Amino acid sequence: MEVITVYEKPTKVAPELSARLIELGAGKFIRCFNCGNCTAICPLTQDNVSYPRKLIRYAIMGIEDKIVSSIDPWLCYYCGECSDYCPRDADPGSFMMALRRYLTTKYDWTGISRLLYLSKKVEIMAIMIVAAIVGLLIYFLHGPVVLDRVQLETFAPIHIVDTAGLAVFFILAVLLITNLYRMYRFVMRDEYGERVRVPLKFLVADFVKTVPVHFFTQMKFKLCRVSNWINHLIMVYGYAAAFILFVPLLRFTQTNEPFLIVNPLSIIGIFSTLALLYGASISIRGRIRRSQPMWSYSHLTDWMFITMLLIVTVTGILVGIFRFIGLPLATYVTYSIHLMIVAPFLLLEVPFAKWAHLAYRPFAVYFSDLKKHFQSKGGGIHA
Ligand code: SF4
Ligand code: SF4
Repeated sequence: MEVITVYEKPTKVAPELSARLIELGAGKFIRCFNCGNCTAICPLTQDNVSYPRKLIRYAIMGIEDKIVSSIDPWLCYYCGECSDYCPRDADPGSFMMALRRYLTTKYDWTGISRLLYLSKKVEIMAIMIVAAIVGLLIYFLHGPVVLDRVQLETFAPIHIVDTAGLAVFFILAVLLITNLYRMYRFVMRDEYGERVRVPLKFLVADFVKTVPVHFFTQMKFKLCRVSNWINHLIMVYGYAAAFILFVPLLRFTQTNEPFLIVNPLSIIGIFSTLALLYGASISIRGRIRRSQPMWSYSHLTDWMFITMLLIVTVTGILVGIFRFIGLPLATYVTYSIHLMIVAPFLLLEVPFAKWAHLAYRPFAVYFSDLKKHFQSKGGGIHA
């Protein structure tokens, strides 16, 4: 009989991995005794993919490389069925959520994400510092305060707002693109840890086919038997619309013109406001009642996200009301508070925390397809 020996690289073990995941909300995963119930019940389990048991084993053994190179946590939408059927109450659903937080800290090259996730003080200080900088900029750079009618564009001169909006857009684009590139470098590895190179034509073709479709439909979420896909979709569109209105289109939304309900930007703004309010209220109610597994554990960053989301939404609504009924001073003050929270919300949440998931999830499907393509062709070039 012929004996084939497969040589693999020595595996690096990170003994502190379990502790780090517990800090990020993985809770009780070390209770797992590897029965496989979670794999049997998970709607994402396919021929050669074992959700989420395989990752729990890697985490318990401290095999960090296998975790960091895994796409699987991004394909899970936290339906919680695995947690419901776990005989050891190891809560594999929360474990997958903690893995997503952990991977977010690994993709981020600045180290800010790790600081925000692991230190309450740092997170609160970071929000306060960004809000204070915006407050000072408004205090020193605001235009004339017209008090006989609402003149928002005069109070917040468009050339300053435009420059600030472009700067935020540029910073976010650089951070997100570089983090996505790091994600690509981590996950495009074969089972032996060797890098997989994909020809450019596949990179482009698969990107066009995959990322927009999965971003706009969130179709992976539909695989979950207990999920509310429509609710999720409404919130994703609400977030996306708010981002577009606040960042690239701010110069068109902040004008001296009276608020007109028939204006297309106003319609998008109203939809986005209602979607964000709806998302924030069901998330708060769910987290207080712990009514679904996905809300059973709330990290501080989750509460900060919801709090900022609520403040941004409510101040946005108040600005609209004050403009409509013609209260100039109230409009300017509320708008200033609104911007002071919008800035940390965008600059901290989009690249470093919760909102980064909106980018990582569709890109995970894209990278997963690339890997499958590489495997199915049996080709590709190893680095
Ligand atoms: S069901 Fe629970 S105990 Fe069984 S493998 Fe999954 S996490 Fe481990
Ligand atoms: S939360 Fe749902 S999708 Fe995620 S691993 Fe558990 S069963 Fe699978």
